[in-house]
Amino acid sequence: MSTRQVIPVERRRNLGIIAHVDAGKTTLTERLLWKAGAIHRTGEVHDGATTTDHMELERERGITIGAAAVQAAWTPEGQAMHRLTLIDTPGHIDFAIEVERSLRVLDGAVAVFSAVAGVQPQSETVWRQARRHGVPLIAFINKMDRPGADFDAVLVQMRERLGANPWAVARPLIENEQMIALVDIVGERTWRWDASGQPEVVAWSADEAALHASERQTLIAAVAEHDDVLLEAWLEERPVDAGMLMAALRRATLAGRGSPVLPGSAFKNVGIEPLLDAFVAYLPSPLDRPAVVAHTDDGDTMVAPDADAPLAALVFKVVNQAHGPLAFIRLYAGKLHVGDQVWRSGNDRVQRIGRLAVLRAEDTEAIEVAEAGDIVAIAGWKDVATGETLTATDHRLRLEAIEAQPAVLAWR
Ligand code: GDP
Repeated sequence: MSTRQVIPVERRRNLGIIAHVDAGKTTLTERLLWKAGAIHRTGEVHDGATTTDHMELERERGITIGAAAVQAAWTPEGQAMHRLTLIDTPGHIDFAIEVERSLRVLDGAVAVFSAVAGVQPQSETVWRQARRHGVPLIAFINKMDRPGADFDAVLVQMRERLGANPWAVARPLIENEQMIALVDIVGERTWRWDASGQPEVVAWSADEAALHASERQTLIAAVAEHDDVLLEAWLEERPVDAGMLMAALRRATLAGRGSPVLPGSAFKNVGIEPLLDAFVAYLPSPLDRPAVVAHTDDGDTMVAPDADAPLAALVFKVVNQAHGPLAFIRLYAGKLHVGDQVWRSGNDRVQRIGRLAVLRAEDTEAIEVAEAGDIVAIAGWKDVATGETLTATDHRLRLEAIEAQPAVLAWR
């Protein structure tokens, strides 16, 4: 069943995963898609059989990961369903323009660091680029199961190498060098995983309660520096409940003041659900993002995320498939229906939208309409190029300033 139409835009998250090679981005992406219901079990797999799950994941490796944008759904406990779109962010700096473009179309990102290797040069570059673009960032400290894993050392490196302001919203609990549980510092719970990576939320031990209480005070004090509402409550010594702290963290993260950080192990399936919750809690919806600049013959203009405004969409990636190219677009404003005539900046032509689709981990869903904030693919356009803008025929503009090209000159 399609969930597209029923999820309002404030419950959508378009996010990228940025990482240094080998930090675990591929493994994490698979786990996230698996947990977020995008990779389904086939009939021969028994529920809870993790070895089989793992083999299944291995088989599916590659299908999911190569896609420019994959959609999934996540429902945090006690909340409505959210739509997640994971956008592939190239890790190689050789593709600088591709990195820039992918940073443009996402609304928030999670940086994956290895708890052993820490903050490495590539992730440093992309982190700084994302900050320049004003992209709100959270971090996942992966490989907490490895000997030598050091959560706090990575927080220090984030401060020193990235100039970041990390907020530990969860703390790892380590036993025999392996992370077995995490204490949620914002809420009042502990997540624990069994050997197969199945999560359980359990009551606190005395040690966990103590850790929670002291860490929570530290976190509140740190976030209060960046959020007036929390500061006021803190100064007046009013109790700060989970909802209040989470809201303050969200505001401060969206304002670019700091980054919530969570520990885990993608490989062991540990920490995936709290991370999915964090996407919803701390990363922006398309409506939280500022308007973008667009260029017209009469000068620059701003495009706000408004579904009732004229269409403005950017082609950010073209993937060649057996059946022809798939052009991934981000809609910044307006709506796009199958059958619509749109203007293309690349060839200065008006062209009809034949087919629209969204990709999930294991299937492609044909859709009829997309709206501001959506990331979808157009199928069937042979000569489409990245960087093109699509607009309403009577409302032409360009989202990317392109060097003088024949197409642009012809339009003038
Ligand atoms: P990518 O290059 O960032 O996409 O990293 P991969 O997901 O391919 O992971 C790189 C290597 O680290 C692989 O051998 C993974 O199995 C391993 N790996 C990924 N996550 C973890 C983890 O949480 N713990 C451990 N021990 N190994 C991991």
